[in-house]
Amino acid sequence: MRLAAFIERDGVLNRVRVERQHQVSPLSLDDFHVNTGAAPLLRQLRSAGFLIIATTNQPGLSRGYQSRRLLDQMHERLCRELPLDDVLVCPHDESDQCPCRKPKAGLLFEARYKWQLDLDRSYVISDKWQDAEAALTAGCTSLLIDSPWRGSVHHDLVLSDLPRVVAKLLDLHQNPRLLVG
Ligand SMILES: [Zn+2]
Repeated sequence: MRLAAFIERDGVLNRVRVERQHQVSPLSLDDFHVNTGAAPLLRQLRSAGFLIIATTNQPGLSRGYQSRRLLDQMHERLCRELPLDDVLVCPHDESDQCPCRKPKAGLLFEARYKWQLDLDRSYVISDKWQDAEAALTAGCTSLLIDSPWRGSVHHDLVLSDLPRVVAKLLDLHQNPRLLVG
């Protein structure tokens, strides 16, 4: 079975605007700025044997203000500029009651099936509590980047930035006993 590092898209792999304490997903290619500084870090994870899988809630698809075609173009750019193996999208609104909108773990279970993953030895990286909760449900270890969105629910570790998160993940991967207790 293979291992994955799941990474939240907005705010980690691409920049977001913040309005009234909320992150606003980019809706046009002009607004879609990839965090290219993440590329060498993701390559380190790949070298350690991880598949790199971006995950994202995009309720604008269901609500009608995000076009599928534009989103696909954004993700083509994302995959050109970063070493990603997959981008998994929840297109639903909260009212759709789907199983894949984070904090639910549906995207992680979908990836397990698609990529034959060992979720217990896989990791979730994000700046938001919703991903930590999905990780808990799926049995993955969560590593959060400190942010106003990390909340106070369960998370395994919080670090100040992505380089420290990746260094810690590789440390845990090489020394799984560090996680016990
Ligand atoms: Zn969904």
